[in-house]
Order: sequence, then C-alpha cells, then structure tokens
Amino acid sequence: MTIQWFPGHMAKARREVTEQLKMVDIVFELVDARLPQSSRNPMIDDIISRKPRLVILNKKDMADEAETARWLERFRQSGTEAVAVNSLDGRGLQQVTKAAQQILKEKWDRMKAKGIRPRAIRAMIVGIPNVGKSTLINRLAKKNIARTGNTPGVTKAQQWIKVGKELELLDTPGILWPKFEDPEAGYKLALTGAIKDAITDQQELAVYALKFLEGHYPDRLEERYGFRSLDGDIPGAYERIGELRKVYEKGGTIDYDSVSELIVRDVRDQQFGKLTFDFSEDQ
Ligand code: GDP
Repeated sequence: MTIQWFPGHMAKARREVTEQLKMVDIVFELVDARLPQSSRNPMIDDIISRKPRLVILNKKDMADEAETARWLERFRQSGTEAVAVNSLDGRGLQQVTKAAQQILKEKWDRMKAKGIRPRAIRAMIVGIPNVGKSTLINRLAKKNIARTGNTPGVTKAQQWIKVGKELELLDTPGILWPKFEDPEAGYKLALTGAIKDAITDQQELAVYALKFLEGHYPDRLEERYGFRSLDGDIPGAYERIGELRKVYEKGGTIDYDSVSELIVRDVRDQQFGKLTFDFSEDQ
C-alpha cells in the first residue's frame, strides 16, 4: 500500500487514531525490529499521550538478534515495555497478552479491589505503513475468529477481535506517517523496503548501504564483496563489485546504475544476513 502523506492526510490520520484511542486500554506501537527508531512515527509520544503502551518489534526474523536484545533492554530501561515478534509465523506472540496484563496490572488490581469484575483488555495497533500491522492482526485473529459487534459512535464500523479470553483487539489499525525530515531514516526505510524505489535515488541509497555496512558489518561486507573498507573511494568500490559480479556496459566498462541496483537488492534479499539499521549505541 502506498500512501501519499500530505498535511491534510496527516491531520486526518492523527484524528482517527485519537478517536480510536478513547476505546482502548492500551496501545500496541508496532515498529520494524530492524529500525526500532526510524520506523516510529515522529509524533507518536504526543499522539499516544498518557495511554499505556507496549512497543512491539515486528519482523524479528529479519533483524540482527543481538541488536534486538539490546533494543528490548533499552526500551525497558527507559520505562517502556517491549517485546519482539514474528507476525508471519507467530513466534513471540504469546508474550503480547502477558506484557499487556503486566502493564495494566495495577489498574486491574484497583478495579478488582473495588469489586469490578475483570474484563478483557482492549487494545489497538498503531504504526507506519508496512511494519506489519495487518499481518499481525490477521495472525492474532486466526486464533479466534469470533468477532463481537460494531462499536457505536464510530464512523467506520469497527470490530473487536477476541484474542483468547484476556484480550480484545480493534480490527482496524491506526496508520501513521513515517519520518520525512530525517534523510537517514528515509534511507533506512528504503533499504528495508518500506518506502518504494520510485521516490528514492538508487545510487544514493546504495552508497548509504555500503557506508553503513563498512561501519557496522565489515565482516559481512568482506564476505560478499571481498573488501571490508571503502578506503573513502566509492568509485573504486563500485569497480570492484562490478568486476566481481560482472556488471558491464556494452563497451566493457562498469555499469554503475546496475551496481547500485545490485547493492540495494543484496541488502533487501538478506545477502548480508540479518541486518539491523538502527544501532542502539548510535541513538
Ligand atoms: P502494514 O502496512 O503495517 O499493515 O503491513 P503488512 O501487514 O501489509 O506487512 C508488510 C509486509 O511485511 C508484508 O509483505 C508482510 O508479509 C511482511 N511482514 C509482516 N510481518 C512480518 C514478520 O514478522 N516477518 C517478516 N519476515 N515479514 C513480515
């Protein structure tokens, strides 16, 4: 899904999420485990405000495991509970309900003390496009397809999906815009496929990827392309990659455009293994 974000759309998205927030006890903020910082909406703290929140690092199967562990620790230390999941195969999803119960424990205990019978926790998912919101909702819905009725007072008919006895999830996620102002976040979103190629310069993206790999994953760069340092010589690196992979133009010179495409494709196809682009120590 491609969304063009204009100020009017952003205001509308924010309004919709704010409306939905009133119906839930907790927000599941979905982010890409490869980009725990860059794949967040820039105004998320403002929008969620004081509503309890669980950060869910999705696509953990594609991220650097050691970095994911560091990020989880980092979120928890800053007072935000976080879990890592794979929405495609369901790995880690059992943590979601447990974490939500933990976060709301005090509130639920207070309700119990007042003699109010505990009910299911109501939650909604928010996140930028492509982080896996629909996949996660479908995955959770599969367990128990029984849906409760519409919620009155909301323009679009919204339904609650029952996830076990303890959790109910709004079937419509809140879709928020990504970070536009930060070019580095833009490159990272493009390298993970969240932003479509048409709006990004392939060569800029490829050069960013090479520098990133040199800085954070030199071993993997060496394994794939035979060098671990660019020595500040980008054209030289392109020549080496072009020769290694035989990317020539008709006259036998290196085809730079094709080398750019090849680098970006290699990153996206995980030819460098599982990469995390937001390093916890850099943030
Ligand atoms: P949405 O725009 O946030 O609703 O994102 P989607 O649910 O449409 O997912 C975007 C892409 O990410 C799809 O191609 C999904 O198959 C893929 N995806 C979602 N969750 C995971 C995951 O945990 N692991 C992997 N590898 N891919 C995922």
